[in-house]
Amino acid sequence: MTVVVTVGGVHVSFVQLPESVATCRNLVGGEWLVPRDASLLDVHSPYTGSIIGRVPMTPAEGVAQAVEAARAAAPGWRATPLRERTVLMARFRALLESNLERLSQLAASEAGKTVAEARAGLLKGLEVCDFALSLQNLDTGGGMEVSRGVSCEFRREPLGVVAGITPFNFPAMVPLWMFPIAVTVGNAFILKPSEKVPLTACALGELMVEAGIPRGVFSVVHGGRETVESLVAHPDVRAVGFVGSSAVARRVYAEGSAQGKRVLALGGAKNHLIVVPDADESLTAQAVVDSFTGCAGQRCMAASVLLAVGEVGHILEQVVERASRLEVGPGMGAIIDRASLSRLETAIATAERAGARVLLDGRGKKPAGEKWAGGYWLGPTILDGVSPEMEAAQRELFGPVLSIVRVPTLSAALEVENASPYGNAASVFTTNGAVAQAVVEGARVGMVGVNVGVPVPREPFSFGGVGESKFGHGDITGTSSLGFWTDLKKVTRKWTTRTDGSWMS
Ligand code: NAD
Repeated sequence: MTVVVTVGGVHVSFVQLPESVATCRNLVGGEWLVPRDASLLDVHSPYTGSIIGRVPMTPAEGVAQAVEAARAAAPGWRATPLRERTVLMARFRALLESNLERLSQLAASEAGKTVAEARAGLLKGLEVCDFALSLQNLDTGGGMEVSRGVSCEFRREPLGVVAGITPFNFPAMVPLWMFPIAVTVGNAFILKPSEKVPLTACALGELMVEAGIPRGVFSVVHGGRETVESLVAHPDVRAVGFVGSSAVARRVYAEGSAQGKRVLALGGAKNHLIVVPDADESLTAQAVVDSFTGCAGQRCMAASVLLAVGEVGHILEQVVERASRLEVGPGMGAIIDRASLSRLETAIATAERAGARVLLDGRGKKPAGEKWAGGYWLGPTILDGVSPEMEAAQRELFGPVLSIVRVPTLSAALEVENASPYGNAASVFTTNGAVAQAVVEGARVGMVGVNVGVPVPREPFSFGGVGESKFGHGDITGTSSLGFWTDLKKVTRKWTTRTDGSWMS
């Protein structure tokens, strides 16, 4: 049963943790199994710290078994017409939609996000499915008569076995960025979800099986570092999509590329919101607060640094006031684990020691009630007087912490933004079109927003950053993902009995 309460006139359903402790299994060749010699890791809910599941850490042999099953299935799936593949994925999409609430609860309970945020992630996943389903009509390849009797044509062809490695913070959405497209275009896909959030991945696998996916075309392999390394090293895995922290993304990219694989590895972020004096006060304050506190700050599109240009004190006051009204607890979401919580608390203390002023302190805040006492909580925290050299302005913190860096001009703001090695997203808040345009053109990021706190592009506009936020080419969703999940074959045909022309005629 879902508990629904009303906060500020809005209905909010609070998380319901699973009632029993499930042991996750791998989906290999259409069978659910616990891999041989796998150790089991406990899965904790960030809301309570309690154990809600167990996950096998698949060793190399279990990975090889999954790749073999995928390799065996790949030719049949490749030979299945796009239209038939699409019909099957449409069944999956329908199942995803009818299981939306159950999956939202599951994703929330293991990732610590609110049910509403988990639902939003699934809705984004449905949007990616819609894009994948549209390919049968939109991605026709294209052909042209290039010379008399000679035509050229594009054919998009699947790669074979591909893998997707995903992070904890979007247990449904990030896998759904990848496999609906990768599978629809004809690949056999192996999902390696984060070991912190394996339950949602199993539920997605169950829905793929229910939709009728042929054995081996979609697999789930659980585990951590060793499992990833085995997948990336396996010679039959042609491409690896990765989403996670920059350090691991860089390593996966380097290891996969060195073996001639195609790798697209999305990394971490340090997103800047630029606020200028003419910005709409109320819209800006709300967008800033939603951006840095949503998912308890654990999303790669979260605001992390507010670049306050000139006299914007009136807006900052509202940011602090609105953030201070947020209640720590299941209405805001929890931090993934104890280690991350203490890392965040240390980062705040370090910023304080370096001279930052804590305008709002979320440390030690906890929701009322025994039920949540074991959870990992941090309230919204705002640091002012942060200088661009401080760790709080440079390192990805991944929590509800906003660092305010004061700058005199828009150019100075762009300088700070562009000095960041990351390049996921930036936004500007202004009512002046020229200011907006300067940021759109000048920010060295993959995704830029104007008066939008979380500038996630809608499909088919593609998701992906630049710099250390992405290693590899193309994007993980939308039109620019197609070149990653497929090979483009170029066909030149001549059907003529003429013999008096050159090869070009
Ligand atoms: P993570 O890098 O710790 O883990 C990501 C995946 O890599 C997991 O499946 C994990 O099992 C695996 N992994 C972890 N350590 C590994 C290692 N040493 N070798 C090989 N594989 C390893 O990331 P996380 O903590 O799960 O997720 C949070 C991070 O992901 C943040 O940095 C966040 O910004 C980033 N992220 C980025 C995007 C994006 O689109 N750019 C989206 C979501 C999250």
